[in-house]
Amino acid sequence: MARIVQKFGGTSVGDLDRIRQVAQKVRSCVDAGNQVAVVVSAMAGTTNQLVEWAKQIGPMHDAREYDTIVSTGEQVTVGLLSIALQNIGVDARSWLGWQIPIKTDEVHSTARIEEIKAHDIIERLEKGQVAVVAGFQGIAPDGRISTLGRGGSDTSAVALAAAIKADRCDIYTDVDGVYTTDPRIMSKARKLDYITFEEMLEMASAGARVLQTRSVAMAMRHRVNLQVLSSFNDTPGTLVQNEEKQMEKQKVSGIAYSAEEAKVTVVGLPDKPGIAARIFGVLSELNINVDMIVQSASVNLQKTDITFSLARLDLSKAVTSIANLKDELAFERLVHDDNIAKISVIGTAMRTQPGIAKCMFEVLSEKKINMQVISTSEIKISVLIQADYAELAVRSLHDAFGLDTSD
Ligand code: ASP
Ligand code: MG
Repeated sequence: MARIVQKFGGTSVGDLDRIRQVAQKVRSCVDAGNQVAVVVSAMAGTTNQLVEWAKQIGPMHDAREYDTIVSTGEQVTVGLLSIALQNIGVDARSWLGWQIPIKTDEVHSTARIEEIKAHDIIERLEKGQVAVVAGFQGIAPDGRISTLGRGGSDTSAVALAAAIKADRCDIYTDVDGVYTTDPRIMSKARKLDYITFEEMLEMASAGARVLQTRSVAMAMRHRVNLQVLSSFNDTPGTLVQNEEKQMEKQKVSGIAYSAEEAKVTVVGLPDKPGIAARIFGVLSELNINVDMIVQSASVNLQKTDITFSLARLDLSKAVTSIANLKDELAFERLVHDDNIAKISVIGTAMRTQPGIAKCMFEVLSEKKINMQVISTSEIKISVLIQADYAELAVRSLHDAFGLDTSD
């Protein structure tokens, strides 16, 4: 017997038939003798619709009311799934975030989970009842509903798994695991049997859309055994686990890309303390996430340029706010480009094998793809390129690192 959290995403609960199929999956897990807590998303498309309505009624809306609106999708699916389970003889009960409670911080619309009081749920699980928990939502210190940011029900599932000390957290989705790259642009992409938490974290933040980045970070911190698998078939998925558990050799695991990037360069800034802090301070006040940052070394200690990348969605806000600093900071000009993609090569091999960067740069240069910005972490190399070349770059790198052949 094990205690398991099963999480089903929007397409898995996309209509009533699918919800009935999910109920069957849950029942098999219960029949196998497990204690089961289920976390669900809203039906596919629902949250987008709710966000759209919130924007239309008030572009500069109150985040607390935004949360009141967008959290409703999950309220519908927990109720529906609970009834579907009861109809096939499974004792099940729905739980909204505030009922558990899942306590978050006060940052409405992108709240972080601070604590889950899991006592009541554990008691019910031990009596054989299935807990059907609304993903994506919690309760803020002001007593109001909060939401965790788009894709947040992955984080709900992992947090719940940590709180109830689950043996495993199974994330059911519409793909059957984590791939070496996006199968839609590279037919030779291969499903990975295993990936380390760190690699998964880099993949998620570099643009692979399988898991919300925060959920991976949380699973890593709390050592939650994660598995990503399909709700539409029974093939084994991808296990996300600690590096020491991996028997496989260290390798390049995947190529991630994000085609929705933009780049800003502030040209001719005075080279003195406080300038970068001012620019990025303004951006952070606007809640704009900056990704790569490069500052050129000033030759004569007078002028420098700062380049950074960000999500294309945030570009106009960022440009306007920095333009407002022109007199204060006395920079020369502001240049921006919204046709940028980020390509990342990810793998634990980078820790031990030299030459991976060289190989990456050679492949791109053979294809005449210009790298505009380069940044690295211990297990990742990312470059910004012109967005039109993103797919070519991904395919060429996938081939060059031999990712289509299993090891
Ligand atoms: N329903 C929310 C969203 O679409 C949360 C989730 O599905 O993870 O972002
Ligand atoms: Mg999702």
